[in-house]
Amino acid sequence: NRSLHEVDPEVAAAVDAELRRQQSTLEMIASENFAPVAALEAQGSVLTNKYAEGYPGRRYYGGCEHVDVVEDLARERVKALFGAEAANVQPHSGASANAAAMAALLQPGDTIMGLDLAHGGHLTHGMKINFSGRLYNVVPYHVAEGTGLVDMDEVAALAAEHRPRLIIAGWSAYPRQLDFAAFRRIADETGALLMVDMAHFAGLVAAGLHPSPVPYADVVTTTTHKTLGGPRGGVILSRKEHAKKINSAVFPGQQGGPLEHVIAAKAVAFKIAAGEEFAERQRRTVEGARLLAERLVQADVAGAGVSVLTGGTDVHLVLVDLRDAALDGQQAEDRLHGIGITVNRNAIPNDPRPPMVTSGLRIGTPALATRGFGADDFREVADIIAQALLPGYDASTAEKLAARVSALADRHPLYPGR
Ligand code: PLP
Repeated sequence: NRSLHEVDPEVAAAVDAELRRQQSTLEMIASENFAPVAALEAQGSVLTNKYAEGYPGRRYYGGCEHVDVVEDLARERVKALFGAEAANVQPHSGASANAAAMAALLQPGDTIMGLDLAHGGHLTHGMKINFSGRLYNVVPYHVAEGTGLVDMDEVAALAAEHRPRLIIAGWSAYPRQLDFAAFRRIADETGALLMVDMAHFAGLVAAGLHPSPVPYADVVTTTTHKTLGGPRGGVILSRKEHAKKINSAVFPGQQGGPLEHVIAAKAVAFKIAAGEEFAERQRRTVEGARLLAERLVQADVAGAGVSVLTGGTDVHLVLVDLRDAALDGQQAEDRLHGIGITVNRNAIPNDPRPPMVTSGLRIGTPALATRGFGADDFREVADIIAQALLPGYDASTAEKLAARVSALADRHPLYPGR
């Protein structure tokens, strides 16, 4: 019964330091969030000790009566949350959810279409050295040059030409909503299945702030740790007809024992996501991103060559375009890091700078909304970020901006009492 601090002071110190980092800085990585204490508790529970290969009621191990309750709760809650016919809550991550869903629907060598990684897609949507690019014949689609929006004419033309078995709609870096009905139409016209990866915007869907892909897609995958705000993990939702194949693709196809402690935390997150408090938080998330985008197109930053892709956002993130700025993505990320704001640099479509430098920033609001940030706080964050991107930035500007960041962090304590 010895504590972490007693057994392993080195790991304990790093965990403590990470908590302090999360508490004292502003987390604006668009794929991150803060799991509620209840989910941390579930995930840190004795459920980690249990082997439970199989599914509730059909396990290959004894003693599964309690983890069956947990996994059933998770499945029923996530089905109700998104109105899905079937759910598999076992994937260890978003990438493994996508791998299993694709293994269930495809044979190696089949043709798939996904949004190009360099245009906002995810590694698992067909990147060359990812499993998806190695196992399948990938035909990437793109955003249109002028608008920055997914080019549905190109999607239709490529699908007609290549007759993919699967079209993947979804993104990791895109500030607008996809037209699921149009994707469905194209899939139907070309005999393809449609998979939507809603990892990024699942929380917005749950809150009714974003159209749901569930009525349109054969399969919907998601992570549980981004806008959904739960533990790190994946989920596959599907139509009933695909459920059996998907279940066997997850186990025994891809995984052994499920992480029932994580599944317990997923169940907690789904319960929370069904409530009004969660919906209110998602509204602040989207409003915060909109306020940030509005600030980052004003005259001062525009004069420095800074703009935002597509001119704004409909979701929880903003993509800052630095192609016309003297400042590159790396320098911008470093400046923000220096004042206590964590973001990631991000290649943008047709980026002239190398991938390790980039001409973009991806900035998200979910984690700050979880901390309680409201419109006034987001206006202040937006102004701090704008000031940090202007020319003439020096140590004294940095010091003033860092003080404003600290004031915001103090105003909204994270995990108080810890
Ligand atoms: N799908 C999308 C759209 C993502 O953005 C991500 C993660 O960034 C994933 C899948 C993969 O999730 P994980 O990192 O849990 O494997």
